[in-house]
Amino acid sequence: MKLHEYRSKQLFSKFGIPIPRGRVAMTAHEAKTIARELGCPVVIKAQVLVGGRGKAGGIRLVHTPEEAEEAATQVLGMQINGLPVRKVLVDEAAEISSEIYLGVTNDRAIRSPVMMASAEGGVDIEEVARTHPDKIVRTYIDPLLGFQDHQARYLAVAIELARDHWREFINIACGLYRAYKSSDATLAEINPLVITGDNRLLALDGKMVLDDNALFRHSDLAEMRDIDEEEAIEREARRFGLSYVKLDGSIGCMVNGAGLAMATMDVVKLFGGEPANFLDIGGGAGADKVSAALQLILRDPNVKVVMFNIFGGITRCDEVARGILATLEEVDTDLPMVARLVGTNEEEGRRLLAEADLVTATSLADAAEKAVALAGKGASK
Ligand code: GDP
Ligand code: MN
Repeated sequence: MKLHEYRSKQLFSKFGIPIPRGRVAMTAHEAKTIARELGCPVVIKAQVLVGGRGKAGGIRLVHTPEEAEEAATQVLGMQINGLPVRKVLVDEAAEISSEIYLGVTNDRAIRSPVMMASAEGGVDIEEVARTHPDKIVRTYIDPLLGFQDHQARYLAVAIELARDHWREFINIACGLYRAYKSSDATLAEINPLVITGDNRLLALDGKMVLDDNALFRHSDLAEMRDIDEEEAIEREARRFGLSYVKLDGSIGCMVNGAGLAMATMDVVKLFGGEPANFLDIGGGAGADKVSAALQLILRDPNVKVVMFNIFGGITRCDEVARGILATLEEVDTDLPMVARLVGTNEEEGRRLLAEADLVTATSLADAAEKAVALAGKGASK
């Protein structure tokens, strides 16, 4: 789950990181009032959960409350990367003398949190990583020891930060790590962390991504979920208790169990196909859930074939088959479907599906091979 810039910065502020004074507005009129209270100049910043707002025109520097109102009217009417802007942050403008990047994330390859810094802040950090990887410095963090002052000092030296900023920088880096750790984040990033005209460090932008699987221990953060901005289809999946992640391939997959779903995707790829989604319907799913899941898969226009991989334990294969058949009566689709059902009541499940002309398979490899072949046919049509 991504947090909006203003939420991320509020959280950073709790950990002692300096942020500009500012407030969120839902209307242009509110933006004008806030601009008057803060004193101009201010920046009007689109609050959407995508990057590159600056380039898209979602960030405006203005000099009067009237200009703030006008800029907010424009920004609130924008779409950035397909997402409508519903809120703007009105921040006291900062005079910038240089921009730094500072972020912490998990390095899966090293199996450790890593803090990264670069003197080339403000711009797209992925671009810097591609073109000038040597401009990004890293320090790996032992989760038992936590982030140490000397590591922050190492980063400060490596990015050639002037010595009079070291103390502030160490406090900010330590605060950022604590914000990241205590909220079970997978990313906490300040880009840019600026040196202001009056020579202070200030976090101008903030981004946090939280681990969805840890949200149960952060009810205060979980409430911040902005459901307006998530993919409608993923929101619906959550309502039915399904774990769904949309991907770019053509083979829609319905599987019970997260591990089995991952194995299914691997095997689909092994046979040269691309999964259209990850979908775990969970254990003990009845016909209702199966039907909801199938309808989600069929809403994706890229799907050329649907593949079911059900291991019947608590979940009964005949019940799953009935869910599939009931859905097929309701929705109009002529997509080919391949089903591999094994376990409790598998013969009954297979018989029901074969009667309805679904392709059945006995092994996962067999199912994947058939699905990939059918998807290929669909694509060349
Ligand atoms: P992003 O494009 O979505 O990452 O949004 P940012 O908040 O990082 O802003 C992009 C750029 O706008 C920054 O790198 C700054 O150059 C500029 N900017 C943002 N806030 C201010 C401000 O208060 N004053 C000035 N002068 N520029 C700002
Ligand atoms: Mn930024």
